Amino acid sequence: MIGGEPPGILDLLADWEGIGVIVRRDRPTGTWIFVVLHNDTLGPATGGCRMKVYPSPVDGLADGLRLAEGMTYKWAAMDFPFGGGKSVLATPGPLDAEARRGLLLRFGTLLNSLGGRYGTGADLGTDSDDMRTIAEVTPYVIGVHGRSDGPMDPSPFTALGVFAGIRASLRQRFGDDSFDGRRILVEGVGSVGSPLAQRLADVGAVVLVADIAEGRARAEAERLGGTWVSADAVIGAECDVYAPCAVGATLNVETIPRLRCGVVAGAANNQLREETDAQLLDERGILYAPDYVINAGGAMAFTLIFQGETRVPELERRVTAIERTLDSIFQESELSGLTPLEAARARVERILARGPAGGVSSSFEDMRGHGEG
Ligand code: NAD
Repeated sequence: MIGGEPPGILDLLADWEGIGVIVRRDRPTGTWIFVVLHNDTLGPATGGCRMKVYPSPVDGLADGLRLAEGMTYKWAAMDFPFGGGKSVLATPGPLDAEARRGLLLRFGTLLNSLGGRYGTGADLGTDSDDMRTIAEVTPYVIGVHGRSDGPMDPSPFTALGVFAGIRASLRQRFGDDSFDGRRILVEGVGSVGSPLAQRLADVGAVVLVADIAEGRARAEAERLGGTWVSADAVIGAECDVYAPCAVGATLNVETIPRLRCGVVAGAANNQLREETDAQLLDERGILYAPDYVINAGGAMAFTLIFQGETRVPELERRVTAIERTLDSIFQESELSGLTPLEAARARVERILARGPAGGVSSSFEDMRGHGEG
């Protein structure tokens, strides 16, 4: 930063250690396009396309740099053959349908020029219809399954992964992985929180439900025979597991001292405001399941579908491997004295240092070779 000025593009990139960024202004819509490639050690850089109105385009780039790095960790933690990437379409304001379609098609053409070094998918502000539009001009899109009966929403898979991760967390923290009678607080009953709460209720957990949309939370609580908790009362509510499934940064220096739970394990991205908050949780004896590991289920399922696996039971089997991954992270944490977040990072670094399983990095072309019809 120079003289109190907000950081510019070059300031953001000065210390960034990724592969690079493609920057382009889409003149018809005034959108800044950032395609961020962070790491391709394990396979092509892959991560969703975020469309958003940012205070300034530079904020969009900052978001993309952070999210692309997060994808590197997510894929490596699960040892999946993809690298970290993300794209951001920083629009100047809401776009009408025609302008949006034009932008998406030009974005797709830009992806072709990268020849498969980056693959995209839906993210905040884009959906599977947008992915279909992009797929009209480029093959580098995940989440367009080429078959109308394939599952199109990643959220139930994310919920299943979180459910499996909570089981691993219960085992680690309480020495017993039975859900029966466990008090589990689901914060945010949207696309992930709602199917998660359902799974938890089905196995006998006492489900507590909170959402900023109070009517939705009350209805869910009633449907599941659970208990409604006001969104303001989540921090401080007594429970065995707090499952953040709404927004990020709910774990921080102000909230952690007030938590009354044994485990934090949920779907939200970026749950810790600062990395050091993992240490604060540890000091309070609260087990933290690192967010990018426990919430990887949807991304895993969609890339498996892209690779040609469309059998739902098999997808579910692969997603529940999150439970074993967390088991080994918790074990390493216990043996080494590292926090679970540090142990997850150590695992990622080991896998990246080893390189792709089998020694050969994959490409989208190889994957489509085995792919869908
Ligand atoms: P969603 O928008 O469908 O649901 C979010 C819910 O949280 C909504 O019901 C909303 O009313 C509620 N909410 C928002 N702010 C809140 C607050 N301050 N307090 C309480 N409730 C609040 O989103 P989603 O797809 O279910 O995703 C939830 C979280 O999980 C997000 O952080 C998302 O980034 C993360 N995530 C989702 C997926 C996926 O497959 N959908 C995958 C990985 C991570």
